[in-house]
Amino acid sequence: MLAGRPLWWHGARAAAKLVPAAQVLVLHQGDLDAAAREPMAGWLREVGITRLVAGGATRQESVSAGVAASGDADVLLVHDAARPLISTTSIERLLESLAHLDAALLAQPVTATLQEIDAAGRITATPDRKCMRLAATPQGARAGVLREALAAAARDGLDFTDEAALLRHYGVAVHVVEDSALNFKITTPEDLRLARALMETPRSGFGFDIHRLVPGGPLRLGGIDVPAEVHLLGHSDGDAVLHAVIEGLLGAAGLPDIGEHFPDTDPALRGIDSRALLRRTIEELRGLGHAPAQVDVTIIAEKPRLGPWKAEMKAALAELLALPGDRVAVKARTHEGVDALGRGEAISVHALVSLKPA
Ligand code: MG
Repeated sequence: MLAGRPLWWHGARAAAKLVPAAQVLVLHQGDLDAAAREPMAGWLREVGITRLVAGGATRQESVSAGVAASGDADVLLVHDAARPLISTTSIERLLESLAHLDAALLAQPVTATLQEIDAAGRITATPDRKCMRLAATPQGARAGVLREALAAAARDGLDFTDEAALLRHYGVAVHVVEDSALNFKITTPEDLRLARALMETPRSGFGFDIHRLVPGGPLRLGGIDVPAEVHLLGHSDGDAVLHAVIEGLLGAAGLPDIGEHFPDTDPALRGIDSRALLRRTIEELRGLGHAPAQVDVTIIAEKPRLGPWKAEMKAALAELLALPGDRVAVKARTHEGVDALGRGEAISVHALVSLKPA
């Protein structure tokens, strides 16, 4: 999933702007059933795909299945679902080239120096990168040319890892069309992180909490113990700063509120250190692919005066959230004597939180 849609959807959307209703989605046999149900059915409607076929054991078999379902198209393009950042402009350039070429694929210039190595990792040659390209997709051809090559490979029992290799084997000249480096292939978890950083709207959440002040110190707030004659009343340790931060984190991830996550009817949570609740929340978010990116906290407290403790709270929060100091702010102010907050009956906290891909 990327930005709330499957990887294949992004490439399909880029192509749908040029060739509406002309796409065939090749899926694993086991995924065909799911395609008839929501949410998959809705995603298919969004990009105008009505033709679905089961793929085979190899890329070549899957491509053959897709080509067989492609109707009477003049030109065929084969795209990897694992390249979701393909642009409509690149597809358009490829299609233009196929108006006068038999076969072409998108390819990227090589910007790093290439080293050829032996089994021991020793460099044996330095090929001229100006003569090298990174093959990407879509790879395209005149429909008849690709159909013929696929039939020949099936007849000859040959299997090729991409269409360019297949076509070249059967004597077809394949040209490259300049592609953007953003059309990279998602192979490793790092690739997915990079794609998410590029594609996903920043997530932010707002948190608020208020707890009544009662006699007896110390005051547990912002993950530290502030020496005071009062403390915050709560089922847990009453740390309103951490609760507001947790609410912000949950909100940014689109999850239910802290009351639903950590109900005050749960005896296991009685008197619990809110730092443990925050760690659990961060763990849950990590499972969804999110990590804290920034936290901004405002504490409203008439008493005690928190000025001398802000730096320590900031350091505690930065450590809990695994963030550098310039991504955490803790501000404290009074309520100017107004209302119950101003009479020192309670402390309230507002927190703004943002997330990044984990
Ligand atoms: Mg609370």
